[in-house]
Amino acid sequence: MINDKTESASPHVLPTLPYANNALDPVISAKTIGFHYGKHHKGYVDNLNKLVAGTEFAGLKLEKIITETAGKVDKTAIFNNAAQTWNHTFYWSSLKFNGGGEPPAALKQKIVTSFGTLDACRKELATAATTQFGSGWAWLALDGDKLEVVRTGNADSPLTKGMKPLLTIDVWEHAYYLDYQNRRADYVNAVLDKLINWGFAAENLG
Ligand code: MN
Repeated sequence: MINDKTESASPHVLPTLPYANNALDPVISAKTIGFHYGKHHKGYVDNLNKLVAGTEFAGLKLEKIITETAGKVDKTAIFNNAAQTWNHTFYWSSLKFNGGGEPPAALKQKIVTSFGTLDACRKELATAATTQFGSGWAWLALDGDKLEVVRTGNADSPLTKGMKPLLTIDVWEHAYYLDYQNRRADYVNAVLDKLINWGFAAENLG
């Protein structure tokens, strides 16, 4: 018999940031990371734990919750907080100090096969990130055997379309407003040139 205290215990944990708050400075400031990770990301994790406590989703893995609640109007709050929890963990690993540059060989080959050139892939990512209307995400994802650039709104994820995400850029205003105000394109281009973690994308390509 599970008592109330155990049942309402929080199963989802805010993962440790893979670097210090100031590691991405000056492209993304320690202040932005502090709020983004410490308030926004933590908030999604805390909300998710409250929302799933005592429901059929308690104890389920994050990806399972996301795919089970996607598109269900009565499960929107659970989906949003589960997907935002996943998306942010994925975003932190999609960035690193001294990122950008050339992807590892196997990923670069796949990029050339899918987009023609690395620059064409980079341009598609920049366009997706800057043209996403309102809050959302730009992704490099594997769709079957082909790489695709995908944009999603709000909390949505390529996972709900059966794709495998390789990397992502958060384009919610909270990701860049303290550092770039309304200049989303400056944030996106700086991330692509200086922070994007092609090695993480290559690991996800497998
Ligand atoms: Mn965010």
